[in-house]
Amino acid sequence: MSRGTFFQSVSKYFDRAASHTKLKPGMLKQVKACNSIYRMRFPVREDNGEIKVVEAFRAEHSHHRLPTKGGIRFSKHVSLDETIALAALMTYKCAIVGVPFGGAKGGVRIDPLRISSGFRERVIRRYTAELLRKNFIGPDIDVPAPDYGTGEREMGLIADTYKNLRMNEPYPYACVTGKPLSMQGIPGRTQATGLGVFYGIRVCMEQAEDMRALGLKPGVAGKRVIVQGLGNVGYHAAHFLQTQGEGVITGIIEREGALYAEDGLDVGSVFKHRRETGSLEGYAGAAFSADSRAALEWDCDVLIPAALENQITAENAARIKARIIAEAANGPVDHEAETILQQRGVFMIPDIYLNAGGVTVSYFEWLKNKAGVSFDRLLSRHEELAKIQLVETIESLTGKSIPKEVRMQLLHRSNEEDMVIAALDQTMMVAYSQIHDRWRRRALPDLRTAALLLGIERVAESYSHHGIFP
Ligand code: GLU
Repeated sequence: MSRGTFFQSVSKYFDRAASHTKLKPGMLKQVKACNSIYRMRFPVREDNGEIKVVEAFRAEHSHHRLPTKGGIRFSKHVSLDETIALAALMTYKCAIVGVPFGGAKGGVRIDPLRISSGFRERVIRRYTAELLRKNFIGPDIDVPAPDYGTGEREMGLIADTYKNLRMNEPYPYACVTGKPLSMQGIPGRTQATGLGVFYGIRVCMEQAEDMRALGLKPGVAGKRVIVQGLGNVGYHAAHFLQTQGEGVITGIIEREGALYAEDGLDVGSVFKHRRETGSLEGYAGAAFSADSRAALEWDCDVLIPAALENQITAENAARIKARIIAEAANGPVDHEAETILQQRGVFMIPDIYLNAGGVTVSYFEWLKNKAGVSFDRLLSRHEELAKIQLVETIESLTGKSIPKEVRMQLLHRSNEEDMVIAALDQTMMVAYSQIHDRWRRRALPDLRTAALLLGIERVAESYSHHGIFP
């Protein structure tokens, strides 16, 4: 696949959505343009003492709201084009779920599977210092997060590096999200994207009319699901679909091959098997195939690409058998493939909505860091007092005392994680109904156009207060 394709694909999606608005061309150009790009090359010492020159990027797609926000990717496929495309998707994603940030993305061109822990640390610390040098990081400037190939350890290292270089910053930990809990992270952030994917699929599949058009009964329960990618997003999406949604995970695809079991795979034990043996192969009770790409074409109700972009292209789109494609990854279906899939009546839940759970919970983490207080501290006691009052009122009105166990349940003190999860659930529900409503009311071609349009119009609305647009 030639470079340039991913951003071109995002641009085509943009142009199609833009053709449905009355916004002026100048405004649309500004919403579409990538505002700032920083390309860097820096030396990092390898474990054997040699120097590797690492290439990295940060793209801030839209400054209509600050800070800009988006993950940092470690991958050997990182390119400037990919970073810009991903930053643009972040802009629309944040606007769609009402998170008041501009979009950004970072990429470091290294293979995360072939680097030592020490090298990883030196790279991420140097990358942070480079960002800081050009004012591309800070609680009110640009706030990174995890993405493919990075996780909470790297985010902790970013926070530590930033804090030590910016001694006067009052709330330095707000410079990055997805940090470990011990460094002012927020409970629920690790599973947030995957859980959001589950909530998004669930609300989509509750729409009886849409499901009927696909020949499916409403609801996730009993549906056959195939997941591509057992990383943080894919694993959690599959886990919650199975445990909370009673979906049947019939297939799991990874780079070395794929597993299939008609009666369903246990996501937790497949994950454990792969962690212990390094491969899906040899997992008991399921058929293994070494052809990962062909596995995308296996029959199922819902296919969840949760790995990288451009997995479904004009090359394989006509052979996909899933009724619904739930885009947990960013950009897994390219523009050409989408046209083919639509002609075949496949329903797509777009990435810019479906994987927004990560940045939603990042927003809560950032708020907590900026405020310098945890939500636990603010809310629990208040809620507890209200519940005690309610229980006492019931008892005095009925003249009966509530049994101890029921009383304990009623008085359960919700913690920060309960709050985060409830807010995530609510966010995914509200955004879906706004997108769905637009789709139907404005007779738009599909859900992606409706989602993108919502994002574009919200960004434009925010720019319209900047004074320059008449
Ligand atoms: N990397 C994630 C994404 O693509 C999360 C971004 C964030 O939390 O800022 O949405």
